[in-house]
Amino acid sequence: MKKELIFLGPPACGKGTQTSKLSEYLNFPHVDTGSLLRAAVKNKTPEGITAESYMTKGQLVPVEVVAAIIKRRLAESDCANGYVLDGFPRSVEQAGMLEDINKEIDDSDAEFRAVYFDIDTELLIERIINRKSCPKCGEIYNMKFKAPSDGVHCDKCGEELTQRKDDTEEIARARFDTYNKETAPLTAYYESKGVLRKIDANGTIDEVWERLLHAVND
Ligand code: AMP
Repeated sequence: MKKELIFLGPPACGKGTQTSKLSEYLNFPHVDTGSLLRAAVKNKTPEGITAESYMTKGQLVPVEVVAAIIKRRLAESDCANGYVLDGFPRSVEQAGMLEDINKEIDDSDAEFRAVYFDIDTELLIERIINRKSCPKCGEIYNMKFKAPSDGVHCDKCGEELTQRKDDTEEIARARFDTYNKETAPLTAYYESKGVLRKIDANGTIDEVWERLLHAVND
């Protein structure tokens, strides 16, 4: 049966690290709206040009832009058996759009599950400011808690690490405001539909991983 997995949680809750790992484990594509939008910005596509001004303010990109990108991606053949969707939906409106997209793709026998990363938020701003990632393979590091061995290059592929433009304290605070206003209500939305699984996202990467596996397999 096709598995549609979506993930909720505040910025820097560890979703990116865990969902990349999960996509490898399940052999489902990791569809990450933030990365798709950053690629569109880098390539200066019309969608990227629109998206950039919202992203640099920590706001949500207009729903029609994100929905178009997601619709194209989820219709690709590698999503036929399932997908790990990270960063979409981010509002109740987007949740409705995802339902429409899934119906259009014809997922009548798919299993849908939303996993919520429940985490103490005080340390997350610090996590964001210290975050760097590999522009080539996407591996995520933290210069304080999970630094690369030489402090500069990716341990996996050797590329020099970069910092996201929106990983500054000011934009991070705006992203938390956006999360609290627009995205947090989604947990109640999915809870009322009986598809929400909550996991404790405090702890080490391995501890959270064990909890995540239970949440997607039970
Ligand atoms: P992320 O990499 O998930 O932290 O996303 C980075 C930025 O991309 C967000 O702060 C938003 O500006 C934008 N973004 C990502 N996903 C969405 C979405 N589903 N809807 C609107 N904007 C999004």
